[in-house]
Amino acid sequence: MTESLRNSEETLLATNRQLQMLIQSSPLAIYTRDLNGLLTSWNPAAEKMYGWTAAEVLGKPLPSVPGEKRDESDSLRKRLLSGESSIKFEGQRLRRDGSPIYIDASLGPLHDASGSASGIIAMAADVTERKRVELQQAMEHQITRQLSEAATLEQVTPEIIRTICESLGYACGAYWIWDPGTRQITRAQTWSVDSAEIEAFLAQDRDTRALPIGPGGLLRRVLASGEPTWIRDVTADPSFRRGPEALKAGLRGAFAFPICFGNETLGIMEFFDRGSHVPDEVLIQSTRSIGSQIGQFLARWQAEERVRRLAHFDDLTGLPNRSMFNQRLSHALARARRADESLAILFIDLDRFKNINDTLGHGAGDHVLKEIAQRLRGCLREADTVSRLGGDEFVVLLEGASRPEDVVEVAQKILAAVARPVLLESQEFHLTASIGISTCPGDSDDLQGLMKNADIAMYRAKEQGKNNFQFYSSQINVHTLERVALESDLRHALERNEFLLHYQPKVDIGSNRIVGMEALVRWQQPGKVLVPPAQFIPLAEETGLIVPIGEWVLKTACLRNRAWQDQGLPRLRIAVNLSARQFAHVHLLQDVARVLNETGLDPAWLEFEITESMVMRDPEHAVTLLQGLKAMGIHLSIDDFGTGYSSLSYLKRFPLDSVKIDRSFIRDIPGDGDDASITQAIIAMAHSLRLRVIAEGVETEAQLQFLRVNGCDQMQGYHFSRPLPEAEFLRLLKGAVPAARKPVTPG
Ligand code: C2E
Ligand code: MG
Ligand code: MG
Repeated sequence: MTESLRNSEETLLATNRQLQMLIQSSPLAIYTRDLNGLLTSWNPAAEKMYGWTAAEVLGKPLPSVPGEKRDESDSLRKRLLSGESSIKFEGQRLRRDGSPIYIDASLGPLHDASGSASGIIAMAADVTERKRVELQQAMEHQITRQLSEAATLEQVTPEIIRTICESLGYACGAYWIWDPGTRQITRAQTWSVDSAEIEAFLAQDRDTRALPIGPGGLLRRVLASGEPTWIRDVTADPSFRRGPEALKAGLRGAFAFPICFGNETLGIMEFFDRGSHVPDEVLIQSTRSIGSQIGQFLARWQAEERVRRLAHFDDLTGLPNRSMFNQRLSHALARARRADESLAILFIDLDRFKNINDTLGHGAGDHVLKEIAQRLRGCLREADTVSRLGGDEFVVLLEGASRPEDVVEVAQKILAAVARPVLLESQEFHLTASIGISTCPGDSDDLQGLMKNADIAMYRAKEQGKNNFQFYSSQINVHTLERVALESDLRHALERNEFLLHYQPKVDIGSNRIVGMEALVRWQQPGKVLVPPAQFIPLAEETGLIVPIGEWVLKTACLRNRAWQDQGLPRLRIAVNLSARQFAHVHLLQDVARVLNETGLDPAWLEFEITESMVMRDPEHAVTLLQGLKAMGIHLSIDDFGTGYSSLSYLKRFPLDSVKIDRSFIRDIPGDGDDASITQAIIAMAHSLRLRVIAEGVETEAQLQFLRVNGCDQMQGYHFSRPLPEAEFLRLLKGAVPAARKPVTPG
């Protein structure tokens, strides 16, 4: 070995030693790998950075590369082995404890003595800290941007939760709204990675719950400290109440921070992950700032919401104001047009409201308006709108109100609600309202037209004496209105005891003595005129109310007749009219038997008047029914005879006792030849069938004469007496005939 050669060998050895020292003491992780990617060296800095010792990893693949990053790592190695001189790489790797580490690495190829590639060398710095700060800054920026672009809190919160989860590596998160007044916490929004277990964990807290005061799990700790808080392992922390559910979802680490505005906590954001994280000071700082950013957004949003309320709602009553009402009405009109539906608006004006304001002051007036607003709300469905237009004017929008009856029902409800007394300074005040109604389609198809028409109708209601409602279109007024009002009143008439009976005598034409009477129902509402049956019997028929009303008539008639007999008055038969509906009622026989039994009236003193059409509708049924009644001993007669299409011979099949000639024939006798001959024929034929004949509606002496001459048995009519209230009827029976009605003298 020559001197120079030895010298250069020594130099080489020295250089090698220095290189080894450098590698051993370098703060950079330095490791080499062979052509197959197996580790051939692993310096102490690498041991420290990644957590594996050289002994554990030499001869093995790089342990810090997670499964999903293997391909990326292999391709880097191949690029170097095929000639690339150096590669800079920055990315995420794993430590031995599973925690992520960010590295900034320089990679280069190794060559053997012959100059061919023998492996690669890597020098890596741990830049996790720097990277984390960068990520957190990026996260803060992104959240700031999300908040500045947010339309609503509901929309932006899940986005923010997602950003935080993705930036910090959490699997899921939730936003809770905190109400310090009630100490209630409500879970508002969530976001999670795609996992059924985790979604189930989040879904368990759907309801509001009250948080007890005192130490506790994550949420209560945040509330108590007002600071970001974390739990390494919620499944091992007994104070965390959702521990078992978290365990099921495989969640361990938890982190939460408050959403604050000033000193006030408005809510909490919480996050969970499968691994445990311990936030550093930078993250804590950063979540503090995010929490207050969201808090400011929330506070601003709430303030804007207040402004929106003021712009769209009436301050006093909280009802939508005119501008909001117009908005809703135009939407409703568009919808109605599209769906071919109808709607109605009701203009409501309180009657004499000014009096309250003038005499009791504005405070009292305000109180009344608030009270009325609440009552109006109570009259409507959720979908309907009631708005205060100003002063004492309200307006209601009913959508999908196709039948006038439904609108009427609401109007009646409103009138009744307003009429309930209002308590002012412990004194009861009585208010009424006038309502004008317009409908679409019908009255108008546009907003202005509808409002104008409802207003006009409202003034009409005022003219009609207030405390009522009017439709703009007058046709509906007359028909529906009266009918519906009548029906509603009729429903209550029985329980309010508003029915009474008048009695009209039936007189024997030969002897001119009273031989019976017909009970005729009357309806007397307090403070109103007596309503004759023609005005409510048809409606009672249609609604079925005739059944209970008829039963009341029957019972009262029987009861009174029995009472008169008990008073020693002459025994007379009382006739009661049966309606078609009663006649068709399955329990008629039973009901009649029960009434007779209860009142103790001998059936011989009861008579039913039925019409031809009733027996003609279902003759089979009629025969059975009439036979049943007959078997009880009740008399049966055909009312209004001659107006139907039946012939007397047909009626022979029925067990009848008498026929009553309709008053339309009697009216024009004896002058009208046709009527005179019809009357004569009816009398003759009835007699041939052994039926008694009575003429109804006898008003004149001439009529009576004609009937007497033609052998009619009995008569009933104004000529002898109008139908009378009980007291007057009894005076007549006892012979004290009212002065206005002169007794008929036999001719
Ligand atoms: P109806 O059974 O034919 O009763 C006779 C009607 O003629 C009564 O009218 C009576 O007031 C009227 N009338 C009696 N004499 C004269 C007269 O000389 N001239 C004129 N123009 N009219 C006379 P009202 O009481 O108004 O009853 C009308 C109808 O109402 C009755 O006709 C009957 O069908 C029905 N109705 C009355 N009460 C009841 C009842 O309790 N139940 C049922 N189902 N229907 C009843
Ligand atoms: Mg009758
Ligand atoms: Mg009649």
